[in-house]
Amino acid sequence: MTSTVSKSIAFDYPQQNAAGATCTAQAWAKTPPQLHGTEKAAVIARIKQLLIEKDAALVAHYYVDGDIQDLAIETGGFVSDSLEMARFGKNHPAKNLIVAGVRFMGESAKILSPEKRVFMPDLEATCSLDLGCEASDFAAFRAMHPDRTVVVYANTSAAVKAQADWMVTSSCALAIVHQLKLEGKKILWAPDRHLGRYIQEQTGADMLLWNGACIVHDEFKAVELEMLMAAHPDAMVLVHPESPQAVVDLADVVGSTSAMIKAVVEGTATEYIVATDNGILHRMRQLAPNKVLIEAPSAGNSATCKSCAHCPWMAMNGLQGILNCLENASGEIFIDEPVRVKALGCIDRMLDFTKNHPDLLAQAQHGFVKNIGVA
Ligand code: SF4
Repeated sequence: MTSTVSKSIAFDYPQQNAAGATCTAQAWAKTPPQLHGTEKAAVIARIKQLLIEKDAALVAHYYVDGDIQDLAIETGGFVSDSLEMARFGKNHPAKNLIVAGVRFMGESAKILSPEKRVFMPDLEATCSLDLGCEASDFAAFRAMHPDRTVVVYANTSAAVKAQADWMVTSSCALAIVHQLKLEGKKILWAPDRHLGRYIQEQTGADMLLWNGACIVHDEFKAVELEMLMAAHPDAMVLVHPESPQAVVDLADVVGSTSAMIKAVVEGTATEYIVATDNGILHRMRQLAPNKVLIEAPSAGNSATCKSCAHCPWMAMNGLQGILNCLENASGEIFIDEPVRVKALGCIDRMLDFTKNHPDLLAQAQHGFVKNIGVA
């Protein structure tokens, strides 16, 4: 039996301020101004100098500003998805990591690299999935279902990961849940309801789902996407599995950010409709300059916006914030050691699985899942 828990999503309410502004409005209000010309060049030069002097590496997510992605690559840092960011940080010899992304990514880097100091341009840059899965609420939910194996998505706080048996990313979730199903395990899944539903559909596992959502992917619209597909009949449609089912059902490739990039680089089509945060287009254009990339339609944040899929918290990352980390040691991530050690357990279990079972990962990606991309 599969069921869905009707847990309300609280992410837009606890952080309302006296003026009634929501947390997303607060995030947009904190988006740093774009730097230009000589000012931008000076900040970039200073960051490059300080990265060397402070023995630091810059690690960025695909969804942050293109200037930051370019700077990470130019300085020997890294641009990737959340898991690979944390892996890179762990294996890099630098004593300090600057993580351009959202809060759980900085926390994951610190969980895996406790000996390093981890800094973020803005510690208030968070994620609706993380905000909508508060640790005490999750503990109560978990306590109601002690018979279930707890599987959480990477987009959760360290305090939630500390309560989990497994952490998964969108690139390995199918293989791990499929294996758990073969072992007869019933699963408690959090927090993304769309990804959970997709995994449940593909694996047939018994999954109880937390009712969270990504505010960016949740906005993609199937009707508008079908109209766009009709206008571009030869385009390949790439969809992130955090999107609603009706949108996922239209996809040629359903996959993680890494899978979507791979699909564009290796695909034979000329046109690609991309349903994920539009920050990813920067890297796609660099790696596949001859391909035509079309943003999938979303409701967005205004009535006139048809393709405004961009995360407000990712947008809070700016060059000046990175400079502040390096000059003032601002934005450092701290995690209580008992929480860190517990959270490490579920991440290590995933890392061991992905290392020891490449066959199961490949089977999940190419065998029983017809549309999944390769991460
Ligand atoms: S794009 Fe969605 S899942 Fe990613 S950080 Fe933003 S709110 Fe979270």
